[in-house]
Amino acid sequence: MSQEIPYKIYLNENELPKAWYNVRGDMKEKPAPLLNPATLQPMTAEELGHVFCDELVAQELNNTDCYIPIPEEVRNFYKMYRPSPLVRAYCLEKQLDTPAKIYYKFEGNNTSGSHKLNSAIAQAYYAKKQGLIGVTTETGAGQWGTALSMACSYFDLDCKVFMVKVSYEQKPFRREVMRTYGASVTPSPSETTEIGRKILAEHPGTTGSLGCAISEAVEKATSTPGYRYVLGSVLNQVLLHQSVIGLETKAALDKYGIKPDMIIGCAGGGSNLGGLVSPFIGEMLRGEANYDIVAVEPASCPSLTRGKFAYDFCDTGRVCPLAKMYTLGSGFIPSANHAGGLRYHGMTPILSKLYDDGYMRATSVEQTKVFEAAQQFARVEGILPAPESSHAIRVAIDEALRCKETGEEKTIVFGLTGTGYFDMVAYQKFNDGEMSDFIPTDADLEASFKNLPKVD
Ligand SMILES: *Cc1c(COP(=O)(O)O)cnc(C)c1O
Repeated sequence: MSQEIPYKIYLNENELPKAWYNVRGDMKEKPAPLLNPATLQPMTAEELGHVFCDELVAQELNNTDCYIPIPEEVRNFYKMYRPSPLVRAYCLEKQLDTPAKIYYKFEGNNTSGSHKLNSAIAQAYYAKKQGLIGVTTETGAGQWGTALSMACSYFDLDCKVFMVKVSYEQKPFRREVMRTYGASVTPSPSETTEIGRKILAEHPGTTGSLGCAISEAVEKATSTPGYRYVLGSVLNQVLLHQSVIGLETKAALDKYGIKPDMIIGCAGGGSNLGGLVSPFIGEMLRGEANYDIVAVEPASCPSLTRGKFAYDFCDTGRVCPLAKMYTLGSGFIPSANHAGGLRYHGMTPILSKLYDDGYMRATSVEQTKVFEAAQQFARVEGILPAPESSHAIRVAIDEALRCKETGEEKTIVFGLTGTGYFDMVAYQKFNDGEMSDFIPTDADLEASFKNLPKVD
């Protein structure tokens, strides 16, 4: 029976989704709205329009339409690297000697090396359609900045990237990929914005954080005519675009009549996981099916497993709207770890709400265990995984080993969000036995929770 399933399940071009799926349409209780930090009232379309492109504002606020058509131009770009394969991890199964069946959806087959291009191209398209000159953004590990610079060069838009200083210094090659695609890259915090100068004055020598870089990028966009800000995760619109991952996964599984039991994804801001699981959670919300959905986060930045479900700022500089989400506090700066894409203090409001309502669970894993899984996976499946993605691999392997004990023939699907070629410093630390795990104490978290804004 299992022999009939190929190593790679490919969809053809015509099977590429024609519309994104908006899980909010099927949620009876909607995620809480973004609040204006000054008035604490829900952000209006007009207010959001100062920061984001108009069409993206409409998508951000759309809680009702389940399907939103993918523009032809975006779909044509998708065709260059999608549909992405759903791979049956036969070699890993064999090595683990497990009765479990393991599949992964591989999003690393494009130059940016991750799923982020799925939303970058959509956001660049709407910016161009609105006649803008360019966009600003932040990037942590560099994946989002790389994806956005590719998307902007395709649509001939200017792209200004604020890159967290520690990554700017540690990942010069990422920076050069962005510049090759025409983006300008500034280490953050920088002297080029008011908020950057303020953060530098308060924390001299800081190596930056995603939250700081967001503040700078927003300030730059709102103070430069013809520019808007774009964000690579967390927002509703980003989850919407990433639903292409889940729609393709579901189509590929349906093609072979496979029903997954467990769906696993790593969670930073929650966009790949949200995109992967949206169509499946949609079935759960409509009472059609049930799945065990698992978010995996680093033990060093455990927003779902140890955070609070509360309104909080999306950025360190507290210039962005407030979002109701699982958060460690906008002032929380995680210790240096190597999964740069999972260092955000909060979690997308959609997944936060679904998690709070019991539609998914979450677990956290330590860095050395993550790299053990990454190495094991690379050696048998060939792909060198991103550290972020390897969080999901860890949990998939652990579950498959558990199935070996119990004899369960469970079907496990996980999101392999990207490749790790730019993370070789991290792999080097691991290979040299010099990797350690930093886990915040309860006291660290309590101190950070004290600064949550008071919203009733
Ligand atoms: C950015 C990134 C993530 C985490 O971001 P989400 O918004 O949580 O998906 C995971 N994997 C890779 C490879 C990334 O680049």
